[in-house]
Amino acid sequence: MPARTDDALVLARYPFRERDLVVVLLTRESGQLRAVARRARGAHGQLAGVLEPLARVRVTYFRRAQSDLATLDEASLVRSAFPLAKEPAGWAAAQVLAELATVFCPEGQRAERAFRLLDHAVEALLGGGDPLAAAAYGELWFLRLAGVFPEMGSCGVCGAPLGAGPWLYDLRESRFVCAPHRPAGTVSRLSAAAVGWLSAASRAALEEVPTDVPEDALGWLQGLRERFTERELRSWAYLRLLLASDAPEAGP
Ligand SMILES: [Zn+2]
Repeated sequence: MPARTDDALVLARYPFRERDLVVVLLTRESGQLRAVARRARGAHGQLAGVLEPLARVRVTYFRRAQSDLATLDEASLVRSAFPLAKEPAGWAAAQVLAELATVFCPEGQRAERAFRLLDHAVEALLGGGDPLAAAAYGELWFLRLAGVFPEMGSCGVCGAPLGAGPWLYDLRESRFVCAPHRPAGTVSRLSAAAVGWLSAASRAALEEVPTDVPEDALGWLQGLRERFTERELRSWAYLRLLLASDAPEAGP
């Protein structure tokens, strides 16, 4: 039962038994990992301060062959996400990214690109990056890393270039199509602005992506994710609610 050491991001944590914590980690080498931090709560529980949500940590853990839960031996803090707790929308966006990682990264499967994506997005949010753009960018890239993001720029039937938009998306076949190959079934339409944003986010670093994410781009990404994961993300609903209540009132 050799111990392993790895870099990890804390996705969530829960009280467990009398004085323990269960932490859900996204590790660099082994994907999602659930681990018990023994005696982490209470007067001598220094680990609780290290294992804050969205912190980047260095952990040593071991696991028995039949156990679902690893046991955390040591954890040291590499980067705290605590300053984000003062920025409600930034914190909510980071929760969206953490929930996406929980849904998209299976346990025990190496997910280094997902680790780097989440790490970079949290870093950007800590630097004052736009919450909605960070959450949408993360959603797009988790879909891409899972292999469910469609080919962009050309018709999925004939390969004809689609130009600047608007584009048609064939929901049944999960592909963009040109006008002559528009199917009889359900099609969703993406505005030129949405096509522009999605194209930019597929190519550029998060810092270079426009912050005015078109509403139909958000809706299309959400639909793609919900068809794949067959569930809603509560954290997304909360972020949207928060941003809507922050928006300035229209009119006098
Ligand atoms: Zn076509």
